[in-house]
Amino acid sequence: MNSETSTKDDLFLFCQAVETIRLTRPLLGKVVTEEKGLLENDLFFLSMEHKLNDIGQLACQAVICSQTHPQRYLLESDLNCSVILVTENTIFTSGDVITVSVKGRIHRNYRVASGNNAFLVTESCNNLCIMCPQPPKPQKINVDNQCEGRINQVLNLIGKEHIPATLCITGGEPTMLKQGLVNIVEDITRQMPDTLVHLLTNGRSFCYEKNVADISSAAKGNMLAGIPLFAHVSDIHDYIVQSHGAFDQTMAGLLNCYKYGIAVELRVVLHRQTIPHLVELAEFISRNLFFVKHVALMGMENMGFAKMNRKELHIDPWEYKDTLSKAVKLLDLYGIETRIFNLPLCVVNSDAHQHCVQSISDFKNIYHPECSSCSKQAICCGFFSSSTEKFPLTHHIVAFH
Ligand code: SF4
Repeated sequence: MNSETSTKDDLFLFCQAVETIRLTRPLLGKVVTEEKGLLENDLFFLSMEHKLNDIGQLACQAVICSQTHPQRYLLESDLNCSVILVTENTIFTSGDVITVSVKGRIHRNYRVASGNNAFLVTESCNNLCIMCPQPPKPQKINVDNQCEGRINQVLNLIGKEHIPATLCITGGEPTMLKQGLVNIVEDITRQMPDTLVHLLTNGRSFCYEKNVADISSAAKGNMLAGIPLFAHVSDIHDYIVQSHGAFDQTMAGLLNCYKYGIAVELRVVLHRQTIPHLVELAEFISRNLFFVKHVALMGMENMGFAKMNRKELHIDPWEYKDTLSKAVKLLDLYGIETRIFNLPLCVVNSDAHQHCVQSISDFKNIYHPECSSCSKQAICCGFFSSSTEKFPLTHHIVAFH
């Protein structure tokens, strides 16, 4: 990509600086793109088109610019602060909140241009799902409340004009932070009372009533819990999450959410182990979990354990489109709102198209070459970038005309 075309934020989460100058400590700060109003703790992003008149007067934590910026060498010699050199196509948006490690690893903790901002609060989990896209890592949880502290700093740096409609909390399993999670939710709700907290949890710890009561009170009624249920019977669910007793705990957790006013998005990942029981699961949900806000039927991401266990799990969505239609029809019949995530329109029967949503996070969303001639591309979710030629999602991509 050349400098003329590299003006759009491609919403990356992480990147590596090409070079850093005078960077002796990790940085955390808000990205600013104009000199006017620049504060000492800000990180100034100098775009290719922008030229500084008085470099010596710039007072900020660091300047970030392309390695090919015409003022690069002046910045290196005349500035007192750090200089972070990045590739030409690395674009930040004013208001982004980022960290830079001393080794030049850049993490965008908050992306202004994205509708998919999420805080990863732990990589530990008490399940070991056979299709987990981000396999858990054994780690100490929230040592010295570090996670809460980091999130609090990021929240403080998000400008009032950039407050999101939704903020996701994800893991691992976020409830493993126990009181730490309650504190994080309280912090978000205090600073952003209108922001919906979307908590992705396996719901097991919600079988304990006090946990649900505490989270519900912290969220002040503004929470959607995304909780997975993979089968209508415990044997299959427990096998998929590789944890005996998980089904019973998750079911108790779901009922407690209902009791304490936490809205539930019930999540079902579609693969070779869940598809044979999908219609029975839809019936089970309709009869027993009628209170859920909606059911999300989700195409599988080809990452982590899903890729490792591909033989046992992968199934071309084209093969299960009739089963999917049946399950959706059943949930419809009982008035349960149903959404189909991560499945391109051309592998879903037309009777279920109205349920398909553009669900794939912006930073990992791609389209197939065939899609460029498709009349439905603007409303189709496309593919995860992990769907490759070697590991395709489907062999049935056909453009609509
Ligand atoms: S051809 Fe591409 S854009 Fe069209 S429905 Fe299929 S995946 Fe979606």
